[in-house]
Amino acid sequence: MDKVKTLIIGSGPAGFTAAIYAARADLNPLLYTGMEPGGQLTTTTEVDNFPGYPDGIDGPTMMVELQKQAERFGTEVRIGHIYKVAFSNEVGGTHKAFLEDGKEIHANSVIISTGATAKYLGLPSEQRLRGGGVSACAVCDGFFYKGQEVAIVGGGDTAAEEATYLANICSKVTMLVRKDQMRASKAMQHRVTNTPNIELKYNHEIDEVIGDQVVEGLRIFNNQTGEKQEIKITGLFIAIGHKPNTEIFKGQLEMDEDGYLITKGKSTKTNIPGVFASGDVQDKEYRQAVTAAGTGCMAALDAERYLQAL
Ligand code: NDP
Repeated sequence: MDKVKTLIIGSGPAGFTAAIYAARADLNPLLYTGMEPGGQLTTTTEVDNFPGYPDGIDGPTMMVELQKQAERFGTEVRIGHIYKVAFSNEVGGTHKAFLEDGKEIHANSVIISTGATAKYLGLPSEQRLRGGGVSACAVCDGFFYKGQEVAIVGGGDTAAEEATYLANICSKVTMLVRKDQMRASKAMQHRVTNTPNIELKYNHEIDEVIGDQVVEGLRIFNNQTGEKQEIKITGLFIAIGHKPNTEIFKGQLEMDEDGYLITKGKSTKTNIPGVFASGDVQDKEYRQAVTAAGTGCMAALDAERYLQAL
């Protein structure tokens, strides 16, 4: 059993930024990376929109640098997956986290930065071409398809927003919606239908992503008529939702109907004293590395103030 002032769960931009701030505040944070050290950014190629990198940086390198920065100030980073937590409802209480190897961590404060996972269709051809033209983040990767034809799957607000974002960069966007209507808000739907270079295909799904090393096209089908068709594209964006990684907090922390952690007002405070949430795990709206880092900073400041007041 280890006892720490601050336990940080998750190693994306939120977790490492929280670690930098917590370490500099002498909280000697212990950070557990989770199953995917570095988080979602390790699955992207170039990050061009994080301030301070005028020439861009690739996602995995950026995460290594963030980790180094956190360690420089005394963060202990451990690779490991916490599978269970037992939070105390008392102010000043001890929060417990349990690891698969039998280790137990007791912490005075906990910062949750477990992120969210993009949903994919699950087609073998889609999985094979992830990083080769298949992406789940238009804002991250859209720029690489400047002037080219791309497709996007989904009918929610994310898909609608990303389709209009891509339409500004790409020559044509084919939007594939599996039902005969979109789930997106009416305002977002109007934006899509009023954008001339977005072609909407209702009742359409993907059979196969075509391409060996990189995406060259799609075989799609109409799920009402069965009619198949091939379209030529170079980029495929999947926008069918994200799943926040909050399974282990169910029954202890307040969540919205989609499982995102609820934080209080402008703070990172959860409903449990001494437990804070930052990054995508509490944000289904912005989901950017820089916003995640911002809330990571906030969580460390909130934790520091909480501990100081005990
Ligand atoms: P949603 O869950 O709202 O939408 C997912 C979309 O993907 C639906 O159209 C769904 O279709 C479709 N879909 C799901 N699985 C598949 C599949 N296997 N094949 C094809 N299509 C599929 O997710 P979003 O990420 O769009 O939004 C999440 C939340 O964030 C929402 O509450 C949204 O309102 C909010 N949001 C708000 C924004 C804003 O206000 N600016 C911007 C972005 C998100 P179907 O309808 O058939 O189930």
